[in-house]
Amino acid sequence: MPPSTALTVKISGLGALRDLLDGEVVTRADAEWDDARLAWNRAADQWPAAVVYAESLADVITVVDYARAGGLRVATQGTGHFASTLDSLADTILLKTTRMRRLEIDADARVARVEAGVLWEDVTLAAAEHGLAALAGSAGDVGVVGYTLGGGLGWLARRFGLAANSVTAVELVTADGRHVRADRDNDPDLFWAVRGGGGSFGVVTAIEFALYPVSEVYAGILFFPLERASEVLGAWREWVDGTPDEVTSVGRLLQFPQVPDVPEPVRGRSFAIVEAAFIGNEEDGAALLQPLRELGPVMDTFGTIPVEELRFLHMDPPGPVPGAGDGMALTDLTPEAIAALVALAGPGSGSPLLSVELRQLGGAVAEDSPEHGAVGALDAGFSLYAVGSAADEEMKAAVEAHAEKVKAGLAPWAAERDHFNFANRPGVAESFYTADTYRGLQWVKAAYDPDELFRASHPIQPATRS
Ligand SMILES: Cc1cc2nc3c(=O)[nH]c(=O)nc-3n(C[C@H](O)[C@H](O)[C@H](O)COP(=O)(O)OP(=O)(O)OC[C@H]3O[C@@H](n4cnc5c(N)ncnc54)[C@H](O)[C@@H]3O)c2cc1C
Repeated sequence: MPPSTALTVKISGLGALRDLLDGEVVTRADAEWDDARLAWNRAADQWPAAVVYAESLADVITVVDYARAGGLRVATQGTGHFASTLDSLADTILLKTTRMRRLEIDADARVARVEAGVLWEDVTLAAAEHGLAALAGSAGDVGVVGYTLGGGLGWLARRFGLAANSVTAVELVTADGRHVRADRDNDPDLFWAVRGGGGSFGVVTAIEFALYPVSEVYAGILFFPLERASEVLGAWREWVDGTPDEVTSVGRLLQFPQVPDVPEPVRGRSFAIVEAAFIGNEEDGAALLQPLRELGPVMDTFGTIPVEELRFLHMDPPGPVPGAGDGMALTDLTPEAIAALVALAGPGSGSPLLSVELRQLGGAVAEDSPEHGAVGALDAGFSLYAVGSAADEEMKAAVEAHAEKVKAGLAPWAAERDHFNFANRPGVAESFYTADTYRGLQWVKAAYDPDELFRASHPIQPATRS
């Protein structure tokens, strides 16, 4: 919603910010306004006080100082993939990091340092030149920082864990305008909190993380008609029990939309599919996959691919789209849970969801360690995410209502804690953590941002002494 008149007066001084920055300030008076307030998720209707495209660390400090002095707040956005989780931005500067794209790889140390606007595809392509892989998620155009602050569950996760736990340092501008480098030895509480606690604690200007010596994987998709959903999900569920940590896989019900971006052979068609990536050679991969191949898929795309090609495996949208949906973590996927899911999202269900996916957890994702951050591990068997198109309000409401139905149908198998990155509804941060962890995050918030200068996805409320 556009801001009120009173607020318009308060933000009219924002023009002065222009003179202080290398980057750009866009307000409602500018022709670029409607472009500037767009998020990757086109369903998010963002109305901040102004949009700033930061070019540098100095710009970030200036914006933080300016907002604090002027009674405004700051919301940092890399791409806007998670824009639907933000609360109102009415009194807030939307700080876009899109132009902060410097990336360095130290191949000998197997470490990458990237600025806040870097995307996963930037990293995976650059790392591949050195025979290295990063713990990227499924989509190449997701921001490294937003994904990692929320945990980060990717194709190599069962072998190497959540992305947040491979972070070695985070550089931030805190609410008092200080630039800090948080790591194991400096600001260790802050370092702990940002690795899974999200963007509540400051503006991350750069992040440093480990890379792994993986250059090729055996990966692909088995497509089956949606009518075989129960059988395929059931077989996949049995199969995952025997897979080593080198395998990360997804069972999924998928309805491809009737849009030109989708290739002809699958456009408008529905499938039950299994996607998987195996860190190993083709012979071992094919042997592992054999029980699923014996089901007779209508399409089989498995083969050895360069690890950076994993960004296409999940068939995420190639660019910005309007989407809605939600996720939950499941303790297990029993035959009864599969039956409940197929009744709600399988053939003949009339489901408006384009995709309901189940990601296999376990392996390194389940292994906690004192060295880890606020999300040390995901203590669940599977992570479910249901999504559909939200091209207009009616479609959005239908998708959200159906995602709720799916979640309600699977409630008997709900895990204790959901995963930050797959929860799309706002105001649920407490549900991702143990009570102790959440209290710890609240104390870190109170220490670094007691007045809640920063607005973030899944915000952490500061602890109070009372
Ligand atoms: C198509 C698609 C595929 C996805 N695949 C995966 C996946 O495989 N695995 C997974 O774990 N998640 C996945 N996600 C979820 C994704 O990780 C989250 O939506 C994540 O928040 C996106 O980060 P972003 O920076 O791109 O988005 P943004 O919306 O720009 O940022 C999200 C939030 O992160 C915080 N933030 C971003 N940048 C900064 C910064 N510089 N400083 C401080 N805070 C900051 C803010 O709170 C912001 O609201 C996917 C989402 C989509 C839409």
